[in-house]
Amino acid sequence: MDLHCEYFHPELETLDRAGIIKLQLERLHRTLEHCMQSEFYRKRFAEAGIRPSDIKTLEDLRKIPFTTKQDLRDNYPFGLRSIALEDCVRLHSSSGTTGNPTVILHSKLDLEQWAQAVARCLWMVGCRPSDVFQNSSGYGMFTGGLGFQYGAELLGMLTVPAAAGNTLRQIKFFTDFGTTVLHAIPSYAARIYEVMCEQGIDPRRDTRLRTLVIGAEPHSEDTRRRIEEMLGVKAYNSFGMSEMCGPGVAFECKEQNGMHIWEDYYIVEIVNPDTLEPVPDGEVGELVLTTLNREAMPLLRYRTRDLTRILPGECPCGRHHIRLDRMKGRSDDMIILKGVNIFPIQIEQVLMQFKELASDYLITLETRDNNDTMRVEVEMQDVNLDDYASLQRLERSIRSRLKDEILITPEIRLVPKNSLPKSEGKAVRVKDLRQQY
Ligand code: ADP
Ligand code: ZN
Repeated sequence: MDLHCEYFHPELETLDRAGIIKLQLERLHRTLEHCMQSEFYRKRFAEAGIRPSDIKTLEDLRKIPFTTKQDLRDNYPFGLRSIALEDCVRLHSSSGTTGNPTVILHSKLDLEQWAQAVARCLWMVGCRPSDVFQNSSGYGMFTGGLGFQYGAELLGMLTVPAAAGNTLRQIKFFTDFGTTVLHAIPSYAARIYEVMCEQGIDPRRDTRLRTLVIGAEPHSEDTRRRIEEMLGVKAYNSFGMSEMCGPGVAFECKEQNGMHIWEDYYIVEIVNPDTLEPVPDGEVGELVLTTLNREAMPLLRYRTRDLTRILPGECPCGRHHIRLDRMKGRSDDMIILKGVNIFPIQIEQVLMQFKELASDYLITLETRDNNDTMRVEVEMQDVNLDDYASLQRLERSIRSRLKDEILITPEIRLVPKNSLPKSEGKAVRVKDLRQQY
């Protein structure tokens, strides 16, 4: 492996558009034939009155019905598999942040290709075998654990499976093992910094950290910049989901401007979540993915429920794989309050512009006197909470900027640092206590 080469898989990463389309078509045909080994897809195709041979171009893909999370649930645990169970070597089950569990099966080949994808992402942001990679993801069923473990090992890094939580121990590992690359969810990266400060540890002076991989939950550009500033690192956004193996689906390159989604692994569509028609290029819609090299459980036109858009234009890094914008959230994260649609990330974007505020916040929806209301509690940086007049000024200013953004005037509560509940996994940003009518 040429350590100075920018690419992990040069021949695949630098494919031009024509090359990508040719490869996608070949792999799509293979995938469709293979899907006929699955009872689920055989039935789906029969019901829709189509055969794999009807799909001749990438546009023809639209003839195939969508696959949804509900399909995975209805066929729990093994109903969508395309190979014999004895040829599967691992399963991951989604915790179901939003419902019943689902199962994803993997063959040996699936695991190899997954590790290749993760290694490609990590190489892209400058990770090399001389790096020490510490993974603060939960292991077990959560794919951020084993997914990054095997990818980082394949690349050749010394890989520390620190797993989630136990922040003091994480920090000790940084200093003992000389960790240079950390993988963490954004809320946890901020938490690690707070604990470092409490311990009198300066990440720039006392650790060798220089790269952070953050993902698994929506976060704003300002949040990223803050975390970079805190830890003295470059932070790269990483997107994945268990249905698509896990991490390694889309990842930022060094340009930090959108995440390349690997088009030799996936066909990308962005559709209007209501009409399910494609949206014009550059517009936000629901991400729909078709897997191109999965063996145990290929998925066709899978509705991810994640909202994003394709960034227009070419990336200066030389990769032609399209770039996805930051995730706006899942369609089911959307808050509907007084008929207005609001994504928690819109609120975060406003809050993180105030340097007086720390990174943790909690949105509570409540019914008071038959009226639905929103309260935003947000932690302050270390400031004088007794200076009542300036706190009030700050509250007013936050309220008014939020009103401009979400068209609703929430109650703002400024709270001391570290007073909001912390979670070890993905941050819980919304508490909905509204009465259901
Ligand atoms: P669960 O459904 O239990 O949360 P997953 O671990 O598969 O299971 O989570 C995948 C989801 O996490 C994605 O569908 C997306 O909503 C969210 N996600 C993953 N990476 C990112 C990211 N970089 N930015 C925003 N959201 C992300
Ligand atoms: Zn790029």
